[in-house]
Amino acid sequence: MRAAIGCSPEEAVAQLKQGNPVALPTETVYGLVAPLWSEDAILKVYTFKQRPLNNPLIVHVLDECQLDQVAYVNAQATKLVNVFWPGPLTLILPKKLSVPLIVTAQQSSVAVRAPSSPLFRKVLALLGTPLVAPSANKFQQVSPTCAQHVMHGMGDTISYILDGGPCSLGIESTILSLLDEQHPTLLRYGPISKESLENVLEQSIHMPTADTSDHATKLCPGLFKKHYSPHTPLYLVDKLQGFKPPQHLEQQFKQQSAYIFFTRPQRTLTEKEFYLTENEDLTEAAANLFATLQYLDQRHFQSIWIEKVPPKGIGYAINDRLNRAAQDCFL
Ligand code: AMP
Ligand code: MG
Repeated sequence: MRAAIGCSPEEAVAQLKQGNPVALPTETVYGLVAPLWSEDAILKVYTFKQRPLNNPLIVHVLDECQLDQVAYVNAQATKLVNVFWPGPLTLILPKKLSVPLIVTAQQSSVAVRAPSSPLFRKVLALLGTPLVAPSANKFQQVSPTCAQHVMHGMGDTISYILDGGPCSLGIESTILSLLDEQHPTLLRYGPISKESLENVLEQSIHMPTADTSDHATKLCPGLFKKHYSPHTPLYLVDKLQGFKPPQHLEQQFKQQSAYIFFTRPQRTLTEKEFYLTENEDLTEAAANLFATLQYLDQRHFQSIWIEKVPPKGIGYAINDRLNRAAQDCFL
């Protein structure tokens, strides 16, 4: 099968009703979508992605009414929903019976968010049911931020890609666990910063420990050390300007490598040099990150060298993804 790319939410809904997962745009990345009530279609999502069944899926809802159908909502969740939804914030809450265990990897908690992308919301409204939606890429690979990325990575398995243009944010949602209301825990950095969540909660937020044991990764496989990786070996460095690689990588660094700067250097660039933002804009850098990695991954470079970005706001999320994507870090 070769996927069709189109702009019709009605066609996406028709495919979903026939039990076929489809790719839909969200403001973060493109998702591979199945209705919450169709365990067959959800199983296809895991299969198409080659995603292990112990890696739970995020449930996407239209509004608080649908949230109530899938999770037990507490006071802290309501505060955050009022401020940040629809938007790139996923909450982990106790799950209701209506959520099949295949969605939550047999856990009693569920991850939920309401996306703001109008096309995704249109599909939710037409279908009238929540949707599961992991990113529309094969397991552990770079998330797609435009329809062409989905076609490149999954065009052979899925039937329809709803094209909403490039994703405005380009990086996966922030994930916050509210299972213990006294101890909200940030499980994944994303577009909404820890500080802005703390301001609304009027409470400090815990960070996950560096523990990547089975228990922690089962709880949130987004914590897997390796994730979001291009095929080409990626190396993360503090600053590219003046960087000296270790001896065993000197050849690799000099030959057939691509270099990604955070912000545009004030000089003419070679054809092997790229940048994430014109002028130190972290939001622009996030939006360009996966697209740049996808582009370079298809260009036959032997390695890609990228520098970390300033650690503030969405910069934490960018550095987090780079740390997981990198084969090695020189920081
Ligand atoms: P992805 O859809 O691939 O961007 O990843 C979704 C993330 O949400 C994964 O890191 C999941 O582990 C996390 N997640 C989904 N459901 C749960 C849950 N019930 N508890 C903790 N994390 C979850
Ligand atoms: Mg993903």
